[in-house]
Amino acid sequence: MEKSAIIVGAGLVGSLWAVYLSKAGYKVTIYERRPDIRKAEISAGKSINLALSVRGWTALKGVGVENEVDEIAIPMHGRIMHDTTGETTYQPYGKEGQAIYSVSRGGLNARMMNIAEEKGNAKIHYNKQCIDADLEAGIVYLKDSETGEEFKDQADVVFACDGAFSAVRYNAMQKTDRFDYKQDYIDDGYRELLLPANDDGSYRLDKNALHIWPRGRFMLIALPNEDGSFTCTLFMPFEGENSFETLKADADVDRFFKETFPDFYEICPNLIESWHDHPLSSLAIVRCYPWTNGKFALMGDAAHATVPFYGQGMNGGFEDCTVMASLMEKHNEDWPAVFAEYQKQRKPDGDALQDLSVHNYYVMRDYVADPQFLLQKKIEARFNEMYPNKWLPLYSQVSFSNIRYSDAWNAGMHQDAIMKKVMDRPDIASVWDSKEVEEHILELLEKA
Ligand SMILES: Cc1cc2nc3c(=O)[nH]c(=O)nc-3n(C[C@H](O)[C@H](O)[C@H](O)COP(=O)(O)OP(=O)(O)OC[C@H]3O[C@@H](n4cnc5c(N)ncnc54)[C@H](O)[C@@H]3O)c2cc1C
Repeated sequence: MEKSAIIVGAGLVGSLWAVYLSKAGYKVTIYERRPDIRKAEISAGKSINLALSVRGWTALKGVGVENEVDEIAIPMHGRIMHDTTGETTYQPYGKEGQAIYSVSRGGLNARMMNIAEEKGNAKIHYNKQCIDADLEAGIVYLKDSETGEEFKDQADVVFACDGAFSAVRYNAMQKTDRFDYKQDYIDDGYRELLLPANDDGSYRLDKNALHIWPRGRFMLIALPNEDGSFTCTLFMPFEGENSFETLKADADVDRFFKETFPDFYEICPNLIESWHDHPLSSLAIVRCYPWTNGKFALMGDAAHATVPFYGQGMNGGFEDCTVMASLMEKHNEDWPAVFAEYQKQRKPDGDALQDLSVHNYYVMRDYVADPQFLLQKKIEARFNEMYPNKWLPLYSQVSFSNIRYSDAWNAGMHQDAIMKKVMDRPDIASVWDSKEVEEHILELLEKA
């Protein structure tokens, strides 16, 4: 008998998971609420840019589709911080050769859909919105958004990859007994801007870096696109001083950019037009449990939506595929056993991914321009060079390894406590690269 699976949502995670399932011999049907995005023109800058890192690549490699994605990915080897006078400071992300990769979400999603259809033999049905589910029976209730027709489909297993505001979670799982659910909006929102290419198609900023204009309570970032442009995002509070609330009139926006990001203002033509081109959007963290029920499992943002400050939402969702695939093999597709272990093992990692994301929000916003923070990172990098087995910086654990998020988070908090003691030395700026500091760290590590 043919094994069947339904995936709700042909987003990034759903499209990748389809390939894994089909390689395991499943007939895969995907229901997607939106029309086929490949038929609409996706211009660079009309889509969020995402940073793809090691966990994401690991999941892509798991089904041999990394080369297709590599073709549209731009390496970023470090961050370039822009201060209020336009001076820049460079901070590498990791060791020589290590990079995170800028990809357009729309472009990547379109490519992932091609991969799901061509390599995953998945059948994607567009304009089909999931409106309810029967968890025990493996039934998905759907509505055709063009005709209004309602129908249902059933499979052996169903995966809800329908994003942060998952319909399966909301309409079915949340109605079950003892289902925990928490949704928190942060105080900040975001708005995108396009920094176009020069007339000759060249980049206006260094292409191989993630650019940040950190300003304490708010920040602007820019990630490169393939066509020479950058997708830029302004993150700031909705209300209060220096907030979106104070940027209502065009003149206010113009003055704000001129005074706050002068080097960006100089190179960004059509700032106001670009400002109006994108809506103001909000950011939420969604925590829930359990992640599975009957024949259904939540994956990706549907299980653990987070704020984007560690660039790990998609990477974590892709890693769900790696974990689910390995458990599928381990339990020989005994789905109740697979689901039980998946949620038990993966929930602490989803929580840690969210804790890490919030932590990096503060790092990017408040600390990346702080000389003490930069010195701390220099000490950590030096110590890591000397003792790579004793100290892997938190950023590297998260972005350049497949260490579990929960282990990385615990190790990172432990490292922070050690570095606090080291940075407390009044003479640290002059002795940071001394034997004494090195031995102090070793001693603190030993004690712990
Ligand atoms: C500003 C911003 C920046 C980000 N930057 C990064 C980054 O640098 N790196 C990173 O790793 N992550 C980043 N993320 C997070 C990343 O975008 C998400 O984690 C990722 O898109 C999650 O993939 P997903 O497939 O789970 O959900 P989605 O990509 O949201 O896909 C869900 C799919 O389900 C469909 N759907 C929804 N409801 C229904 C329904 N009822 N019926 C049928 N289909 C439905 C949707 O149309 C969509 O196609 C960022 C997010 C934001 C907002």
